[in-house]
Amino acid sequence: MTTLLIENGRIGGTSPADGSPLPSLAATDPAQLPAIVSRARAAGARIAALSLEERAELLVHFGRALLARREEIRSLLAAETGKPDAEAWLHEIGPIADLAAYWSGDGAAALVAEPVPLDPVSYPGKEAVVERVARGVIGLITPWNFPVAIPLRTLFPALLAGNAVVFKPSEYTPRVAEPIALAALEVYGPDVVTLVQGGGDVGGALIASGVDAVVFTGSVKSGRRVAAAAAEALIPAGLELGGKDPAVVLDDADLERTARGLVWGAMMNAGQNCASIERVYATTKTAPKLAEKVAALVRELTPGRDYGPLVNAAQLAIVERHVASAKKAGAKVLAGGERLDRPGNWYAPTVLLDVPANDESIVDETFGPVLPILTVADEAAAIAAANESRFGLTASVWTRDLVRGEKVARALKAGVAMVNNHGFTGAVPSLPWSGVGESGHGVTNSPHTLDVLTRPRAIVVDARTADRELFWMPYGDGLLAVGRSLAVLRSGAGLGEKAGAVKSLASGFVRRLRGE
Ligand code: NAD
Repeated sequence: MTTLLIENGRIGGTSPADGSPLPSLAATDPAQLPAIVSRARAAGARIAALSLEERAELLVHFGRALLARREEIRSLLAAETGKPDAEAWLHEIGPIADLAAYWSGDGAAALVAEPVPLDPVSYPGKEAVVERVARGVIGLITPWNFPVAIPLRTLFPALLAGNAVVFKPSEYTPRVAEPIALAALEVYGPDVVTLVQGGGDVGGALIASGVDAVVFTGSVKSGRRVAAAAAEALIPAGLELGGKDPAVVLDDADLERTARGLVWGAMMNAGQNCASIERVYATTKTAPKLAEKVAALVRELTPGRDYGPLVNAAQLAIVERHVASAKKAGAKVLAGGERLDRPGNWYAPTVLLDVPANDESIVDETFGPVLPILTVADEAAAIAAANESRFGLTASVWTRDLVRGEKVARALKAGVAMVNNHGFTGAVPSLPWSGVGESGHGVTNSPHTLDVLTRPRAIVVDARTADRELFWMPYGDGLLAVGRSLAVLRSGAGLGEKAGAVKSLASGFVRRLRGE
């Protein structure tokens, strides 16, 4: 059984795959965090002073330095999460090259200063640009389920923008964070990316240690605490929280593709995915056949090759509780439904049919290899049921009619909605990943993620040499006439009144130029 162990300043833990102990490492003393953040701020200023092109070039090197450590990353992922090698390569290591290519290319364009035209009558001789400025130091707090891909999604754009990052990984996956920090050290020098280790106490202390923004991915419970701590520190917080993704299967769906897609969407990472399909709504006509196909595919999944263990005993206990609850409520178990008889935290991929909609396995996040299929009357009932959730991360609709599918996708409460596929865009750097409700309002990937990593700054240059502006003091009757006439001209006043305002504006201007 895996147990969390932070004792006497050391983080321990055991392999989820076989229960063997993992080497312990030192936790960060929270008292050191303010000094760590100060050093990071100085290092960040060094990066921010580089040109955008130089920072983009450094990202290419960062990507290469990470990929040079690919075998170490793969083996640490296996030790700490037990995820199959295919998933390590495809979901964690593979996207590194895409992140480097996007943020050193198209993504970098979002950081180019944008000229904003100003009305030449009201603001003659003035030119404005809006630029995105690095916040300074970003606190990055991440979960264990994608311990490489999730932090990198923020690290790449944060560094491109000229920030330093203090990175606190999950206490369940502290070791695989080390090659990330070493790659950053090699490329950026000291203190640009600082790794701090520990549990929620270290994460909480980091937010209060002077960081300029926090990017958090994790549970709703911790997310609320992070939001409160960020509010207290008056810093922005990006919050990527839980999910309970629905899949809506319409009558005309291609059942073969749909069944395979649902199995991948639900069982990928052993279901420990914020965008895991945890509710399938299929119509009366489709549900029995679909359930049969899905169950047959799930029974073929092989532990170690297709799915790994659950990360810890607590996660396993939630899965066992949800399946027990569904069974008690009358659900049929078509596949799985129990632990595997082997050391570690293995649970058999499970398919449930006709779970009551108010059961906790349908209402709360399971975060495990459990796929419940619910039968609904029609499309409208499926949409209504899918949207009946506190969460709204991603969703999918399965149909041969792509126009209908797109319409249904737009009706689903989600940050990412797909037709005939599910949730894979977490690995696509150009598309925003976001949610509504208890899934949090953070955005990772795409230029939208820069909103929390940068602040907008307007720079205005006035080239006029006149000794005064029309709107400066002292105020007088001429200026009053100008102000009043402009308001009338921009209002819904009738033609007569507007004609009067034009006259009054002209005479007001002349008087103002004379100093009245
Ligand atoms: P968690 O909330 O227990 O921990 C996440 C991180 O927050 C860890 O580093 C932890 O040490 C830290 N933490 C805990 N309490 C804290 C506090 N009070 N202040 C600051 N930091 C604190 O979550 P977890 O179990 O590691 O991850 C699973 C959860 O993450 C699931 O709910 C899943 O849906 C969610 N998740 C969401 C996304 C997304 O993109 N929306 C992606 C992956 C995971």
